[in-house]
Formats: sequence, C-alpha cells, structure tokens
Amino acid sequence: MKITDIEIKTLVLPFPAPIRIAFAVIEGATGVFVRIKTDEGIFGIGEASPFGPVTGETVESTVAALELFRPMLIGRDPTDLEGIHADMDRLLAYNGSAKCAVDIALYDIIGKAAGLPLYKVLGGANPTVENDNTIHIDTPAEMQRLAKQYVAQGYRILKIKTGIDPETDIEAVRLIREAVGPAIRLRIDANQGYDLCTAVRVLNAMKDLGVEAAEQPLPYWDVEGMARLRSRVPGIRIMADESVHDPHDAMRVIRAGAADVINIKLMKCGGIYPALKINAAAEAAGVTCMVGCMADSKIAIAAGLALVAAQRNIADADLDGFLHKKDPEMGMKGGFTYEGGTFTLTDKPGLGIDFDFDAI
Ligand SMILES: [Mg+2]
Repeated sequence: MKITDIEIKTLVLPFPAPIRIAFAVIEGATGVFVRIKTDEGIFGIGEASPFGPVTGETVESTVAALELFRPMLIGRDPTDLEGIHADMDRLLAYNGSAKCAVDIALYDIIGKAAGLPLYKVLGGANPTVENDNTIHIDTPAEMQRLAKQYVAQGYRILKIKTGIDPETDIEAVRLIREAVGPAIRLRIDANQGYDLCTAVRVLNAMKDLGVEAAEQPLPYWDVEGMARLRSRVPGIRIMADESVHDPHDAMRVIRAGAADVINIKLMKCGGIYPALKINAAAEAAGVTCMVGCMADSKIAIAAGLALVAAQRNIADADLDGFLHKKDPEMGMKGGFTYEGGTFTLTDKPGLGIDFDFDAI
C-alpha cells in the first residue's frame, strides 16, 4: 500500500463561552484536519489541535508543517510509522500537533486495512474507558454548580482547574467536595500557576480535601522544583503535563523523581507512536500515565481513548475537550459512545468515525 495524497483543511470549533485556565483565556479553537489517501482506496483521517502557549504552534504554522511533510509522505507505505516519524522529526523539530495529525491518519489506515478497531491494533481487548470532566476557572459557587451537574450526569472523576488565586482555589475545591461527597475522585490542574512555597501550602490543603492528584503545579521548566514538591507533600500524586512533551522530557522527569503520573497528550508528543514510547519509559520506572487533550474534536479524542483502552499503565483519561464545544459532534459520527463518564469505543475498523471531509 502506498500514500497517494494528503489533503489539509481547517475547521472552526466554536465554544459556547470562553474557557479560563491559569495562564490563558481561550475564546475558541480551530482544528487542522487531514485525509491521507492510499492507492488501495483506503483513507485515514487525522487531527491537529495546535495550542500556541503549550505546543508553540498556530493554525497557520500547522498547515505549513503539513505542507512540508507532503512530498515526504507521498509514495510511502502508511504502515512505516517508525520511518515516517523519523522523517517528520528530520524535517522539523517540535510541532507535535502537525505530526499527530499524520500519525492518527496512519493508524486509521492501518486499522481499516487490518479490519480492526484502533484499540485492538494497539493491543487492547476492552473497549471501555472511565473518562473525567473538567471544571474550568470561575467563581467557586459556579464551579460547585458545575460539579453537581457533572456528577448528576454520571461523571465519577472531576478535574478542577486552579492556579490563579490560591485561596479561591482552596475555597472552590472545598465547596465542590461538600457538594459531591467523598466518593467522587477529584484532581486539580494548576497549569504552572504556583511557585514552590505556594504549591506546598495549597497541595497540603487539597490533600485534606481528598484531592488525589495535582497536575503541573509549577512552571514547565521547573522539574527540580516538582521533585522537591513531591517529597514535601506526600499523599497526593504529582502529575507532569507541560513539563513533558516527548519521550526525552519523560526520561528527564522520571530521572528527577519529579512526577507520580505523566499526562501524555497526542498534540504535545506527535501522536500515538511517540505516546507509546513515553508510556513504556514511564511503566518501566513505576510511573503511571494519563492521556489528556487540547481542544480536540472527536477524531483525536477517539485516538486518545483507544490508547487508554489498550495500555494498562495508562490508568487515567482526561479526554473531554470535545464536550466543551458548542457542538460536540461536529458532524463526526461514530468512534465511541458515552454515558456519564463511561466511554465505549466502536468495533468498526480504524477510528470508526464517519466524517464528510469534503464538506469542510
Ligand atoms: Mg494540564
């Protein structure tokens, strides 16, 4: 089988309202979508969800990166994941989202050619994943209201965005715990918003409120600080997100003893193939992984869910990006179904998503 063409399109994914996290207010998102065609009539769909403050990419730079990859891709065997990733890295450093779009489309092709859903291509047997939902930064009362709403919808794990004002963060989590009771699992994500001293104080308070994990409490570059924080606040898992893009970052964090959990994002690392390398390094070191997302639509979310379903060491899923859109479906039929926090992948080959690429 040979790749004959790669088509690139952008699609605006509107939000119902701006989303607030520690370092940004996000008004909306534009996804970059690819369709990779082959000489056997099989095609694959992929998605890039560039996010400048984390991946250093814009929509325009992502399109340019994909244009740069095109001549290298045409004529290649789409199952040559190792070779194609090596050549993408040779042509352009970083640019994880652009590489991810190609990677997802290749896995979609491989699944379709094998007649297997992606989670089975990746070695999995169970199509269900327990997913969380995210509460973005708002007034503590509004955050409490959303927590009640998500729990009523069936979510058992909530991720709470923090990192702007420590006292308000603790108040919001206190109100949420009061409203949802002790059985609901809570995690916070400070998005690099604290310094070490503040983080020690906040995480001790969060631990007393039954928060199980704190994601990226310190700036992405402060790996030593994360290691010190981890030894000073035992009993709450420290999770590295912005500190880990690729497998080399993962090794740095693991060697420093800076994290209990690594948040893998396909958009940071360049797709499923490099994500498997991060997870293998983490698993060997006794560190678990979560798969998170950017403002992904259902295409990249389905790829992330398949990865979680297939890998035992990936113990958590934070794959709710599509839910926070005005229209979660965006015309993308299939892939998975969900009831509350229980997501079930389709058994159709590849991503199993029916998406009219020509209509974009
Ligand atoms: Mg995060």
